[in-house]
Order: sequence, then structure tokens, then C-alpha cells
Amino acid sequence: MDYSVKEDYAAEQDKLDALSHFKNEFYIRDGWYYMDGNSLGLLSKRAENSLLTSLEDWKQHGIDGWMDGREPWFYYSEKLGKMTAPLIGSKVRETIVTGSITTNLHQMISSFYKPDGKKTKILADELTFPSDIYAVKSQLELKGYDPATDLVQVKSRDGLTLREEDIIAAMADDVALILLPSVLYRSGQLLDMKLLTEEAHKRGIIIGFDLAHSIGAIPHHLHNWDVDFAVWCNYKYLNSGPGGVGGLFVHERHLGRKPGLAGWFGSKKEKQFDMEHTMTHADTAGAFQIGTPHIFSLAPLLGSLEIFEEAGIENIRAKSLKLTNYMMHLIEVSLAEFGFTISNPAVDHSRGGHVCLQHEEAARICKALKKNGVIPDFRAPNVIRLAPVALYTSFQDVWDTVQILKTIMEEEQYKQFEKGRNVVA
Ligand SMILES: *Cc1c(COP(=O)(O)O)cnc(C)c1O
Repeated sequence: MDYSVKEDYAAEQDKLDALSHFKNEFYIRDGWYYMDGNSLGLLSKRAENSLLTSLEDWKQHGIDGWMDGREPWFYYSEKLGKMTAPLIGSKVRETIVTGSITTNLHQMISSFYKPDGKKTKILADELTFPSDIYAVKSQLELKGYDPATDLVQVKSRDGLTLREEDIIAAMADDVALILLPSVLYRSGQLLDMKLLTEEAHKRGIIIGFDLAHSIGAIPHHLHNWDVDFAVWCNYKYLNSGPGGVGGLFVHERHLGRKPGLAGWFGSKKEKQFDMEHTMTHADTAGAFQIGTPHIFSLAPLLGSLEIFEEAGIENIRAKSLKLTNYMMHLIEVSLAEFGFTISNPAVDHSRGGHVCLQHEEAARICKALKKNGVIPDFRAPNVIRLAPVALYTSFQDVWDTVQILKTIMEEEQYKQFEKGRNVVA
């Protein structure tokens, strides 16, 4: 693309942007350039309203809110699963909104990891999010295996990205299950889920993905790709609020499989209140629910998903790619002298929704950015992540962000701050 480095280009692009009006639906503080929607998305008015609806249902109906509220709580997780399906390319019955990434990973691994003979290993990667690895290790230990030998972590050649060929080479005969991120949380690399699934299945290996950094940013075709399972959170690109309930996908082929961790909300809906001690599982992904859903942490997702329905995930992805491209371009031309490295993949098909900048002063630069209204996030030791989220970021915001960063570097403003990260970074 031919990017002018003049500010006019941003204004022109904003005029052409068919998604620009969605920005008005979000609460964005004056003077804020919010580039952290990949950690915690912003509140929209519609998400606020759907939460208020459930509070009102409680006020009006008490216990009867389960069936008689405006959004009956008993079917809420299923309803939200249905609304999520288009974002991940699943059938309605393959998706449920429940749990968190980590608890859903425990559920998925305990349901899908069936060590058999010499097929005992779990394959992951050395760059993934720590919680995913903690879950895998504890699941191995629960089954009497030793993570030191039965967890294989594919190595990165550059410390930030993975090669699909290296992952495929590690798909050995003794691997029972593979867990990978769709998008790596630091570098923003998007893995080829279709290819990896094909290669895993050729070798008789179950494969699942953690969609934390792709859901709401990138289209998926999990059903057609034949992915076995997936998990995600809804509080990053899906803007459902801090601690918002997550989600999981189980391919139709596996429905009917007994959940590793059972609980009464996994029952067939009509059977649940029979209160029998022998469980009748739902024949949908709903079977993998455990206990009572956290209604007030589910409810904001309803309003938020309506926005995604209207905007269309393909349009969101197209704008996101333009925004990250534009940001990378401006950084290259305006910040060349200040020692930044752009470490996310440059090509569209391998790039997620955020830009990953490395700089030895990353921690202090992030503090200076915040002081100036730009909300980035920092990942130790030297990564600044900037996510220009398509639904509420304009091209002008990207321009302004890079200009602010340039001023911080020119004036060495970051030197006023302490080195090191805060407790929550
Ligand atoms: C955000 C994130 C998590 C967080 O898991 P929770 O159970 O929701 O706290 C886990 N894994 C990845 C890859 C993430 O990006």
C-alpha cells in the first residue's frame, strides 16, 4: 500500500472507513489513545445495557429470572455461544460461553488427553502464555506423567516467533495432544491453524488452539479446518469486561464425548433439574460447562456481540490489517533513529491484531506513553504492544500515537520514570 506520511492520509482513510461510526459506541476517555484492547477491551454502551438488563431481571424476577427474565439466565451461555459461532466458524452446537481460558483448558485437556501406549506426550511451544503451560503440566501430573519428559515445547529460533515447519517436525509418534496459540501473545504472530490441524490429524494427534489473541480480531473456520477443540476469553478483543466469562469449541465429531470435569450445568437442559446422580450430558458443547454461569460476567458480552454481528468479522480484520500496516509504516519512517525493532510478522497472513515493538527502554517508554494518554502494554523485558483495535481506533489515532511516541523519544521523556514493570503490566 502507498502510505503518505502526511497526516492528510489518516483523515482520508477515516472518511473512507465504513466502521468508523462504531467508535461512538464505546466509552473512551477524553485524551485517550487506547492501544490495549488486546488485554482488556473497552466498554461499549451496548455491553453496559445488556448488563443492566440482567440486573433489572434480578430486580424484577428474583429466582424466576432463570426462565422469565428478558434474557433468561438458564439459556444465556447457549445463546451467547450461538452468537459467537460466526466469529470462529463453528456450528451453533459446537460452541458454548463458559469458564475462563485456564479452566476451559483444564476441561479440554482432561477430556481430550488420553495417553495410550507410547502416545503419551503433549506438544506445546516455548513462547505461549504461562497459564496454558501451568494447566498442561498439572494435567500431565494428574495422569501420573512427568512434565519434564512428557511435555514437549517447540523452540523458537528468534525468541519471538515460531516456524510451522518446526512445529510439524515435532509432531512425533509419541505425541497424543497438541495445544497451540492462534496468535502469539507477545509478537502477534498468527499461526496457520488449518495447516497445523491437517498435519496433526495425518499423524493421529488431537489438536486444540487458544484463541485469546485472535477471537474478535481475525476470522476463523474451526469447523471446516477440523480443529478438535479451542478455548478463548471474551475480555480482550470481544470487550466483555474484566474477568468476563470465556468460551470453548468442541468439534461436532467429538460431541457426546464424556467431559473430563463434570458438573450439573453440563447436563441436557431438560434433564438438569431431575436432580439424578447419574448425569445425562448435553449433546452439544454445552456438556463441557461445569457449574452455574456467572451471569453478570456473561451479560456484557451480549451487547458486545451485537456490535460484531453488525460490523462483520471480515470487515474488522480488513480494517485491523490496514491500521497495523499504517502504524508499522509510520514507525519505520518516523522512529528509525531511536532504536526500535518491529518484531511482529510483517506479512498480513501471519500478523495478528497488534504491533510488537522491542526497545531496551520499553518499560520506561510505556510509562511515558501512559502519561501522554497513550495506553500501551508492556511485556518484560523489552516489549511494547500496541493494538489499534478496529472497532474503536481511527487512522488519526494511529498517527497521533506515533507522533506522541516520537516526541517522547526526541525529548527523552522516558528518563523521568523508574525502570522496571509495575505489579500488573
Ligand atoms: C489472556 C490469556 C490467558 C488468560 O487466561 P485466563 O484464564 O482468562 O485468566 C491465557 N492464555 C493466553 C494465551 C492469553 O492471552
